[in-house]
Amino acid sequence: MKKILIAFGGNALLRNGDDSTFDSQLRRATEAFERIAGIILDNNVIITHGNGPQVGNILLQNETSQKVTKPMPLHACGAMSQGLIGEILAEAYDSVKLKHGLMKEASVILTRTVVDKDDPAFINPSKPIGPYYDRETADHLMETRKWQMKEEPNKGYRRIVPSPVPMDIVERSAIFNCLNDGFMPICTGGGGIPVVKSQRGYMGVDAVIDKDLASSLLARILEVDRFVILTDVNGVYRNYGNPNQELISKISAKDLEKELESGMFPKGSMGPKVMAALDFARSTGKQAVIGSLDDAGKVIEGETGTLIQ
Ligand code: ADP
Ligand code: MG
Repeated sequence: MKKILIAFGGNALLRNGDDSTFDSQLRRATEAFERIAGIILDNNVIITHGNGPQVGNILLQNETSQKVTKPMPLHACGAMSQGLIGEILAEAYDSVKLKHGLMKEASVILTRTVVDKDDPAFINPSKPIGPYYDRETADHLMETRKWQMKEEPNKGYRRIVPSPVPMDIVERSAIFNCLNDGFMPICTGGGGIPVVKSQRGYMGVDAVIDKDLASSLLARILEVDRFVILTDVNGVYRNYGNPNQELISKISAKDLEKELESGMFPKGSMGPKVMAALDFARSTGKQAVIGSLDDAGKVIEGETGTLIQ
């Protein structure tokens, strides 16, 4: 029995063409658990997940209902998305348990991720979030809410927030004990709620943390045997999107690092996954895999996808 951390990508809840209703997301999540049920049966599994579209919708609800209820800060919206996705994943998991003979219970853990208040990302926010606004509304928001906004050609203005490096997981012991007691933790959703150390404890900050980097950190803290990133492509490609694209099936951390440094992987998508896998493989000497959710069983066994060691 191995300890395996599985990070679900956006496609575990929503796919192109899906509406974002609760029921659609529940259906996708159920499909995702169907694919990894065998792995959960034979191993100790920790699930983490993204929250991009869900927190985007919560932010939109926040902004459009301002006249009725007070908007909540971004970190609180992150917390709401963890609760929402936690419910969807727990309900989906429960619905496949009986069929697959799974006795293990899922436990959703609201997770806070510690970031450094002096992280350079706070001086240079770069991550766009939430809806697009026209110039006038953007000016108003910059003045009244002190938001930083950036124009995207032909689309309008969008809020940009810092994406600092995850340093620690506040609920690390809770997750560890939950796993050791035989539960399947569902945690660190959306990379965790970003917090900084304060005099009395921790304080939420308006930022977003990359879910793959936070998952990698948790995988190292929990000393898992394998770190798995499930997404919507078959693995990491060289020259992705070009006629000469080529799937990397097995690569050493050292060689992958060279490819990353050459600028092969874009910052917004495959870059952080590669970095997350590299951080894990380098510091533990164990394997990380990146592959498609649709082939989850084979990816986790290292039979397909990109294996980094
Ligand atoms: P997730 O939502 O699963 O966390 P992302 O959508 O952020 O994942 O990233 C996955 C996407 O990265 C793929 O759908 C693909 O379009 C894109 N991508 C960019 N570069 C590469 C690459 N070199 N190899 C594979 N996929 C890549
Ligand atoms: Mg995605």
